[in-house]
Amino acid sequence: MFEASRAKAIERLDNFIENNLLEYSKLRNFDFGPDKRSNISCLSPYITHGIINELEVIDKSLKKFSFSKNEKFIQEVLWRVYWKGWLELRPNVWSDYLIELNNLRDQFKSNQNYLNAIEGKTDLECFNQWVNELKENNYLHNHTRMWFASIWIFTLELPWQLGAEFFMQNLYDGDAASNTLGWRWVAGIQTQGKHYLASEWNIKKFTNNRFQNIKLNENAPPKISEKTYTLAKKEFNNPQNVEEKNLLIFENHLSFEITDFKKSKFEKIYIVSNKNENRSIKLSEKLVKFKSLLIEDQKQRLKDKSIDCEVIDISEIQNIENYYALYPAVGENLDYLNSNSLKVDFLYRNLDQLAWQFCNKGFFNFKNYIPKIVSTFN
Ligand SMILES: Cc1cc2nc3c(=O)[nH]c(=O)nc-3n(C[C@H](O)[C@H](O)[C@H](O)COP(=O)(O)OP(=O)(O)OC[C@H]3O[C@@H](n4cnc5c(N)ncnc54)[C@H](O)[C@@H]3O)c2cc1C
Repeated sequence: MFEASRAKAIERLDNFIENNLLEYSKLRNFDFGPDKRSNISCLSPYITHGIINELEVIDKSLKKFSFSKNEKFIQEVLWRVYWKGWLELRPNVWSDYLIELNNLRDQFKSNQNYLNAIEGKTDLECFNQWVNELKENNYLHNHTRMWFASIWIFTLELPWQLGAEFFMQNLYDGDAASNTLGWRWVAGIQTQGKHYLASEWNIKKFTNNRFQNIKLNENAPPKISEKTYTLAKKEFNNPQNVEEKNLLIFENHLSFEITDFKKSKFEKIYIVSNKNENRSIKLSEKLVKFKSLLIEDQKQRLKDKSIDCEVIDISEIQNIENYYALYPAVGENLDYLNSNSLKVDFLYRNLDQLAWQFCNKGFFNFKNYIPKIVSTFN
């Protein structure tokens, strides 16, 4: 479903905008099945890796339709920017998640209910199909992610942390912010007391009656977390003059040529590959392969432009001197830099510098700033 190249990503984007964007807000909640995905963009594996970026997507959509016709789609595209900013301002949500996950892994490693869930052997046909789809296609529709997480937490009664790990191991768009906060939101601890309960009628309606016998716990109370998080004081400033140093890019910025720093001169670009040895959550083989193909594609595009570049493993950063890094954001790569006490001069995207200051409250509040964000860059 997802070919690992910028050329393919652009093709998909252009095709979606040309043929399907108009009906997006009407049809987006339907999961018609893995072979019928034209009602949504399926761009997330590319956006997550920076193969294409949010502004490029918004810009192209606005060349086709007005802001008001496009508003729903633009809001969705900016949800991920919002989630990322929200987590930047509360990074302990991520580190606490990893600690909790570590404890639960041990507790559940022989739990039959858990093993049945990740092997797609539950009594729920729809859930089992989604497990297989996740492993085979490395993607699930947004509504299905909500049903999946809700069934995992409230019907199968498994810890959300393990479900979030299962997603991260398999999703081509796996993202520390959207995934962790998406699962927290379904559980009812992101917006305290407000959970998402999947129901039989809703699944039937939005899957076009593809599944029968969906016996769910439709009355479960939200999960409760005692933890509260105060806002971290963080600045996302760039240097006034970007000097000619080396540049590190991580897996979230794999199209240097569309970044805000494309015109700056760098001595050499190092594309950092992070294989499983240095990750808390071990990725499936297919996902590791997908990432390395995207990295190769970026390397080739840089070579075609005669830009000096090299792919290195994250453990080799220690051997490099005098560098900037495009900010990897809260997640596994930043954890590696912090745990190895690597002091890095980060370069932040202009979009994030503007948008993240509006992520201190809920998305409802963030939405008010969307016209300002869009007009700043358009
Ligand atoms: C439990 C759960 C876990 C999730 N985990 C991830 C994840 O790891 N990575 C990830 O990118 N998204 C995640 N999402 C959000 C969303 O499901 C996907 O971004 C979306 O399904 C991607 O499909 P698409 O590109 O066809 O989306 P479209 O509907 O075509 O939307 C266009 C773009 O908008 C962004 N977007 C849309 N909906 C959301 C959303 N709810 N939150 C954040 N961004 C959104 C994505 O970048 C997407 O590519 C999760 C949602 C839930 C409920």
